[in-house]
Amino acid sequence: MAECLLGKTLTELQQVAQSVGLQRFAGKQLAEWLYVRRVSSFDEMTNISLKGRETLRARYTIGRHAPVREAISEDGTRKYLFEINHKSLNYIESVYIPEDDRATLCVSSQAGCKMGCRFCMTGTLGFHGNLSAADILNQIFEIDQRAINNHQIPLTNLVLMGEGEPMDNLDEVLRALEIMTADYGCAWSPKRITVSTVGIPAMKRFLDESECHLAVSMHNPFPAERAQIMPAEKLFSITEVVALLRQYDWTHQRRVSFEYICWASSDSTSGQTVQANTTPRHAKELLRLLRGLPCRINLIRFHEGVDRAFPASDEQAMEWLRDYLTKNSLTTTIRRSRGEDILAACGMLVNALQTS
Ligand code: SF4
Repeated sequence: MAECLLGKTLTELQQVAQSVGLQRFAGKQLAEWLYVRRVSSFDEMTNISLKGRETLRARYTIGRHAPVREAISEDGTRKYLFEINHKSLNYIESVYIPEDDRATLCVSSQAGCKMGCRFCMTGTLGFHGNLSAADILNQIFEIDQRAINNHQIPLTNLVLMGEGEPMDNLDEVLRALEIMTADYGCAWSPKRITVSTVGIPAMKRFLDESECHLAVSMHNPFPAERAQIMPAEKLFSITEVVALLRQYDWTHQRRVSFEYICWASSDSTSGQTVQANTTPRHAKELLRLLRGLPCRINLIRFHEGVDRAFPASDEQAMEWLRDYLTKNSLTTTIRRSRGEDILAACGMLVNALQTS
């Protein structure tokens, strides 16, 4: 299969230009066609010579492809299914979330996921491969274009919180982020992009090489309890994650937040082992663990549509936790769920559209 141009950096596009007999500066023109004008055919690249375009077409593809399905939630959230070329899993999903005057896209970085968080439907898919930078950018460009065509809000923010652990596919994620933020690319401010992680050692490289915001999936401040629901805890504990974060400056533009799904205690007769994580004990430990670190906590209601018997916390417990933490100077918000009716909410991405 021909290599695609989408996902190539400026330096690589300059090399491509020279390899097809064009001047080096044509690499900048290619970047503009791909990332600013976002064309999907070589014919549109009118300032590249006809011969140059023909040679490019013979050796490369652009790398753009439309989603194969779309589902629309009653709250306006839209979920898209994209085909990918992986042997064992042919689809990934992305979620467009409009809100007032902004629109956020939740982007997938892997096909499935190997982190195996017990509460997450995506985790049940297992791991089926890394997405390329082209796969990541294609989600962004295609959905942005659809939003514009549908007279919806163009994308204002990106969150890499779809399928996969972004830090486990860092080469391609950093490449996509470079293209999104570079002057030769989409020139987005890194402040508009948040990358999530369960907390694995590779996040240090992300912290060193990117200016984008970071969201850490915490869900429990006690390592032993967290390990019961998140296997990644055993490899890199939440205490190590926070110690690493303390080595960076969070007092300026860049932000770190902690995602915290709220559960109630499970019924002991159900065979489950989940404990409520909104108790005063958890609240005090959160304060202790994060003391002095400029950050915020996002509380997330658990989506019981997920086929796992984790009981969702009630609203009151979440509000109590939010108020307690906020009163003690830890900025805490309750995040509204979106797209639950189309399995587009947090932890619900299982490529369900492919069978609908
Ligand atoms: S919560 Fe994120 S890291 Fe955990 S299994 Fe789901 S997709 Fe993977």
